[in-house]
Amino acid sequence: MVTSFKISGFTCPACGTVFDARTVTSITHQGQDSDFLPHYLGENPLPYFLVQCPECSFSAYPEDYNDLTSFQNKISGTSIKKILSLPICRKIPEEAQKFFIAGKIYEETGRNPYHIGNLYLRGSWCCRISDNRKAEIEMQQMAVKFLRLAVEKSMINNPDNLPVVTYLIGELYRRLEDRKSAREWFSAVEEVLIDQEQQWILELTQKQAELNEHFIN
Ligand SMILES: [Zn+2]
Repeated sequence: MVTSFKISGFTCPACGTVFDARTVTSITHQGQDSDFLPHYLGENPLPYFLVQCPECSFSAYPEDYNDLTSFQNKISGTSIKKILSLPICRKIPEEAQKFFIAGKIYEETGRNPYHIGNLYLRGSWCCRISDNRKAEIEMQQMAVKFLRLAVEKSMINNPDNLPVVTYLIGELYRRLEDRKSAREWFSAVEEVLIDQEQQWILELTQKQAELNEHFIN
């Protein structure tokens, strides 16, 4: 079993265009990077986790299209054009661009920063897959900003996720070569750990914290 897809119909909440798009139905992966980018087997499913309108470039998760009221009257063709004209948007690889646009739309519609951070994190993974380190750094900085905001404002709804997100923030800082912030966040993981079954995250944190102290990236 590798990546599989299906074609479904969508209606764009921003411009009303009706179109078909490919979405992911199953994935398989073997291992992952230290910031959780899965090593997918078969075709890379990442770009298909989001659905993009072929007319106006509105991008969101497939299920967001069932919830049109969240976007209608808030996101228009003009607001998407504004996002597309941002200098960074033109610099990042096409697959990452979808995540960038979706992240900006989520920002404009006041979504939980945790979900915004996750979109930018996935965008940074697309940049890494395309070997574009410069764009990856930009998207990692955006991811870390929103994931941090989510932790600081206690907006991680599932408490089990808190140690993982705390670790992830440290790891993103490490990858951004901000050793001091990485150290700070890595050392906070133990404090927020509540479930002994999450021992793995503590072990991973110790490993990455050690790398952080030894300049290995
Ligand atoms: Zn559209």
